[in-house]
Amino acid sequence: MRQAKAGEGFAEDAGKPARGGRKRAPKAPPHTDQSIHAAIAGAILQGRLKAGAKLPEHRLAAIFGASRERVRKVLHRLAAERRLEIVPNKGARVPQPTIAEVRGVYEAHRVLEAGVIVQLVKILDEKILAILDAHLAQERLAAQRGDRAESVRLSGAFHIHLVDALGNPELSRFLRDLLSRSSVMVSVYEPASQSICAVDEHGAITQALRARDAARAIDLSHHHFLHVEQRLRMEPRSEPAADLKDIFKAARAPV
Ligand SMILES: [Zn+2]
Repeated sequence: MRQAKAGEGFAEDAGKPARGGRKRAPKAPPHTDQSIHAAIAGAILQGRLKAGAKLPEHRLAAIFGASRERVRKVLHRLAAERRLEIVPNKGARVPQPTIAEVRGVYEAHRVLEAGVIVQLVKILDEKILAILDAHLAQERLAAQRGDRAESVRLSGAFHIHLVDALGNPELSRFLRDLLSRSSVMVSVYEPASQSICAVDEHGAITQALRARDAARAIDLSHHHFLHVEQRLRMEPRSEPAADLKDIFKAARAPV
């Protein structure tokens, strides 16, 4: 078994006092299920956890100062949301989707959204368009700030707005499931230097919808999902995997 090299700084030091010379945040409040969930989900969305990265319960328990039971509960919730995988006898890890799985998910996105657009142009009104416009403004702001996690979330939310406008819970649930899988794919495979869903492409789809031009909106949507899929770089990233402790050092329990 490979041990962390000396100097990598990994130590399971829950409960021990801070080592000499390292300042610790003053009296951080304890982590809750919600804050641990947010820290792990955020690390995945921000691309700080790589595809296939292992998340051992005991290490997370030490890092968050929480019981293994609490950590296990959070990991199972993340697995139910399909943000993580639990491998029997091996524990939790960040998904490492195959090329076939990525293609399957993006093909499903293209097919579903084409159907959504056909229905949407029939019922589209100013209220729905106003929701889309407000959303696009939010997306542009997140892109300008360079807020990657928020950009990934908002990218998905654009497509959720389209399907939710139909008021069909089955379609909405199907899209949310697909999105939780594709968001992880984007987070673990997309080069961080590139944008997520291009906001301009969302803007163009909205324009075509406003013109009630279903054929154009479907074509734009089709190419939009192809672009996102094509940007995914399916090899493991070249940079060495970051230490879990470093990844979560910024995670703060809520005050
Ligand atoms: Zn998009």
